[in-house]
Amino acid sequence: MDFAFTEQQDLMRQQVRRMCEKELSRDYVRWMDENCDFVPDELWKKIADLGYMGIGIPEKFGGMGMGMVDAMIVYEELAIASTAVGLCIGATVGFGAKTIMGLGSEKQKQELLPRIAKGELKFSMGLTEPGGGTDILGAIKTKAEDKGDHWLINGTKMFITGAHKSDYMVLIAITDPAAKRTKGLSIFLVPQPSEGLETKLIPKVGCHAAGTNEVVLEDVKIPKENLLGTKNNGWFELLGTLNPERIGTAMLSLGIAKAAFRDAMQYAKEREAFGGPISRFQILQHYLADIAIEIECATDLIYKCAWLSDAGKPFHIEASMAKIVAGRASEKAAIYGMEILGGYGYTMEYDMQRYFRDYKQMIFSPISDEMAKNMIMQFMGLPKSWS
Ligand SMILES: Cc1cc2nc3c(=O)[nH]c(=O)nc-3n(C[C@H](O)[C@H](O)[C@H](O)COP(=O)(O)OP(=O)(O)OC[C@H]3O[C@@H](n4cnc5c(N)ncnc54)[C@H](O)[C@@H]3O)c2cc1C
Repeated sequence: MDFAFTEQQDLMRQQVRRMCEKELSRDYVRWMDENCDFVPDELWKKIADLGYMGIGIPEKFGGMGMGMVDAMIVYEELAIASTAVGLCIGATVGFGAKTIMGLGSEKQKQELLPRIAKGELKFSMGLTEPGGGTDILGAIKTKAEDKGDHWLINGTKMFITGAHKSDYMVLIAITDPAAKRTKGLSIFLVPQPSEGLETKLIPKVGCHAAGTNEVVLEDVKIPKENLLGTKNNGWFELLGTLNPERIGTAMLSLGIAKAAFRDAMQYAKEREAFGGPISRFQILQHYLADIAIEIECATDLIYKCAWLSDAGKPFHIEASMAKIVAGRASEKAAIYGMEILGGYGYTMEYDMQRYFRDYKQMIFSPISDEMAKNMIMQFMGLPKSWS
């Protein structure tokens, strides 16, 4: 058993870290949080120019052809610097590139993957609907009708990250209303803009630079070849995208936990009370130790998932666990971090408030902790408990 990264991976981490120090300074990330609803184009291009948008895309399609462990190293550094940047890039790499690599035709791969790698395309994922995200099979109403030479789509999607800026939305819709839901859904590539498709930003508590939208689709026509994968098999095919998404979400949480821990440590060493630094008080050390323990657990679990993925082994149980463990690490880090900073933790002057606002999104999205636990126990052989 070997827990070490390779020399090449260490060098790659250093390269991303240097890029983050230069392009994602505290001031810049704060400016994005206060002024942006998506990653600015010039930053997107800089990240793409370093090859990170195509990290998992095969070399023959213009990518770096690297594995999940490599991708997670890059993603970890980005996530420590900015949750919103991680979210925006994750949507394109995780939903766009990953889905096309798994389900796209050769033509779609040749056309789209090189453009993703170059930073020319952005993607979003349209799964959740106004009636519910956890029980998506019960809530889904969006329909795609086969009109011979095109698909006609009608419905509303809710909470879609980055849909206001995406060039394509990966959309899940009903294609066989009479069939059992799991056997009547299909995945589509909806080009944007499309006539009849409208996005509306939803104001939210955190992750401001990764805007979230309501998306209304009224008689949206898309080409016949924009069906991804097999008609009516979309539910099962989507799992290939959703499991890696859970590892990505776990990494975003880990990024928040590490940033909050770093800031809390620094503050505890500098702030003085009763004649010395507050870092000497045992209870604050215990807070920090608790965060450090959870960070270590989350790190190990996330990279184990990535390693399992690279080894071609199943990782659906571990991915759900990692999502929960890392989310809890971010929660503890943000809450204890605020305690350690005292009054300053509650001000807008320090970044702790942003970690506190950002971490919450990771707890219920893309899957709530409650549902993730339901699934872990079902995967482990207990009766399905949620319907
Ligand atoms: C900021 C943000 C960004 C998002 N980005 C995207 C995106 O890009 N694409 C996309 O498709 N979706 C996205 N989502 C949607 C997200 O995946 C859903 O919010 C999530 O799945 C929960 O669904 P819900 O909000 O409808 O809550 P509900 O499903 O209504 O759940 C409400 C509560 O009930 C609990 N609950 C429900 N059923 C059970 C059960 N059987 N057992 C135990 N507890 C249960 C849940 O855990 C939760 O606590 C985003 C959401 C937000 C807020």
